[in-house]
Amino acid sequence: MDTAFNSHNLADLLFPDTEDGTQALEARFPPRALPSGAMVTRFAPSPTGFLHLGNLYGALADERLAHRSGGVFYLRVEDTDEKREVPGALEKILEMCGEFGLALDEGATADGDAGVYGPFRQRRRAEIYHICAKELVRKGLAYPCFCTEEALDEIREKQASVKANPGYYGAWAVHRDMPPGAAAELVRAGKPYVLRLRSPGDPARRVKFTDLVKGDTEFPENDQDVVLLKSDGIPTYHFAHVVDDHFMRTTHVVRGDEWLATLPIHVQLFSLMGWPMPEYLHTAPIMKMEGASKRKLSKRKDPELALDFYRAKGFCPAALKEYILTLQNSNFEEWRDQNPAAPLSDFPFSFKKMNPAGALFDMDKLMDVAKTVMSRQSAEEVYGGLLAWAEAYEPEFALMLRRDEGYARGILSIGRGGPKPRKDFGTYSEAKEYMAFFYDGLFEIIGAYPENMGAELLKTVFGRFAETYDPRDDNSVWFEKVKAVAAGIGFAVNMKDYKKNPDAHPGSVGDVAMALRIAVTGRAQSPDLCEVMRLLGEVRVRERLNTAQGVTHE
Ligand code: GLU
Repeated sequence: MDTAFNSHNLADLLFPDTEDGTQALEARFPPRALPSGAMVTRFAPSPTGFLHLGNLYGALADERLAHRSGGVFYLRVEDTDEKREVPGALEKILEMCGEFGLALDEGATADGDAGVYGPFRQRRRAEIYHICAKELVRKGLAYPCFCTEEALDEIREKQASVKANPGYYGAWAVHRDMPPGAAAELVRAGKPYVLRLRSPGDPARRVKFTDLVKGDTEFPENDQDVVLLKSDGIPTYHFAHVVDDHFMRTTHVVRGDEWLATLPIHVQLFSLMGWPMPEYLHTAPIMKMEGASKRKLSKRKDPELALDFYRAKGFCPAALKEYILTLQNSNFEEWRDQNPAAPLSDFPFSFKKMNPAGALFDMDKLMDVAKTVMSRQSAEEVYGGLLAWAEAYEPEFALMLRRDEGYARGILSIGRGGPKPRKDFGTYSEAKEYMAFFYDGLFEIIGAYPENMGAELLKTVFGRFAETYDPRDDNSVWFEKVKAVAAGIGFAVNMKDYKKNPDAHPGSVGDVAMALRIAVTGRAQSPDLCEVMRLLGEVRVRERLNTAQGVTHE
């Protein structure tokens, strides 16, 4: 063994192709010239093809923090785990950002990178990690570890038998103190190895830490010799996080609080590299009620965790986004009440109002929010979203919509635009239900005719109404005609009088209108019937009245 062989020589042996030091990286990725207070945030998903509420929750906070402060929001693809990568995942991520209006300033694009702080796919950054790792090896702060899985299992078993803390650290770390010359021999012999941190930490010492969401905490120093580079030279999350967030000049890291447990490693790595730490915002997972207790939404048990779930149901992205904001900032709803028509971008989003504990997901609440959001959209906007949804999930309905776009827009215009718009649906699938009766192919009678009207009477009512019906009538003329039909069969015309003395008449004009409603719309509830008839058009209205006469007569 060459005893003169030192850590510098070992660094050169392990990373022969990296000439540059981290100084060169500092020059290549200089601090950003941004006004003070501007935040640089990143959305850093793994390309597994599965996007969930947590991703949206984090990315929305990132985007708001960056853009409200005049900063930068970028996308980094955390693809270090090649086995979990799914083709098309990046496209899905970009699509999600587009759908939810999360405008990326920099980052991975479908075919490359935008911005000078890239590459933004971690597997394309191997050289950068190697430069940083080489520096740690040179300083004696990292070393190759040749332990096989079996060797690691053995260590774990021994630790369990003597009740020692598990892990690879201190005296348990068998390659930690191997002389560089001995390590070099094994490397030259082609023995596989991972690169580990030679942790100088002492768990008896405590580190104070302030998280912008969770507040102040304290934890013991890390003493684990964690893996920095795997045997293929690709970094672990810990090392990639520290290197990337330093050289991409992230100022605020928003991530799930499952990373709090390994935060001591990250704090230590920043310090050993001699880099300032970013601020952290650790967010709690979204919870749901199960019986009387709360639990985390789970990928396996809860389909509603996946963003695809909302897409298939036809929630418009604006609604989901608005709902997430209600979970995220405790003052959002109050702001929304005071600013019902303001765009979301006006909301003064702040991490100070972020919930340190897990927000509770509530589907009914989401539905309420969605109804309100959709009721405020223009018919044009709803039509666009509905058509795109139908093309993907209800192609036959999409054909119906396309066949007469003006008709579809007309339907969607009912009760829209005023100070108190109708809230008939919260999703596109509900919109389809709501609109169904306007389309002959979907029309069916599902409501019940008033009990006080028999088949003969209904036939008379439909016949008489059809005689006087004129599609050009305005609402009041139309209603006078309905009243006349009611009067003709001896039903009360004045609802007030009828309610005061219900026994004086066999029924009221309300019953007549209901019968017409059932015949024409198939249901007991619909928007203003005169308006509905106007939209349906004379031909359809007469056809339906005729059919109803036939059916009720049988
Ligand atoms: N790729 C990590 C994840 O999906 C990102 C965590 C982070 O934002 O640092 O959990």
